[in-house]
Amino acid sequence: MTRIVSYFKSLLLIELAQGLMLTGRYLFRPKYTLMYPMEKTPQSPRFRGLHALRRYANGEERCIACKLCEAVCPALAITIDSEQRSDGTRRTTRYDIDLFKCIFCGFCEESCPVDSIVETHLHEYHFDKRGQNIVTKPQLLAIGDRLEAEIAARRAADAPYR
Ligand code: SF4
Ligand code: SF4
Repeated sequence: MTRIVSYFKSLLLIELAQGLMLTGRYLFRPKYTLMYPMEKTPQSPRFRGLHALRRYANGEERCIACKLCEAVCPALAITIDSEQRSDGTRRTTRYDIDLFKCIFCGFCEESCPVDSIVETHLHEYHFDKRGQNIVTKPQLLAIGDRLEAEIAARRAADAPYR
């Protein structure tokens, strides 16, 4: 029976007609097309884009080299080296993220006890040379310095839901 129904459906092009009717219904409706990059869709405060390392207001790095982010990263994208400073505190000497490996899961951000590593709204970036996929500590700190006000505002907006 199913084979007969299927045969008649194919013969009468019923599914094609249904598809054309759907297309016809949307033909005169307002379009959803955005003129990107001049127009952009709204973005959640939780958007996970390019990473940044943050500092405290006094300029001190937040990161205490606990390596939780490195341990939790499912893509093994983070590489950290650290050393103890003369005052007994520990800081990273190397903090690399391989963006080819990163899957932007946000686990590093969630695991960080001092809100140091975060993911920003930046998603429009590109690489034109081999090796640029490795984002280094100075680059991550520079992104953090540039976007600190926005990062803080986004985290404050998301705080009630955490
Ligand atoms: S976002 Fe996920 S995959 Fe990317 S560095 Fe962080 S933990 Fe690793
Ligand atoms: S970024 Fe956060 S989780 Fe990663 S090593 Fe530094 S303090 Fe630890």
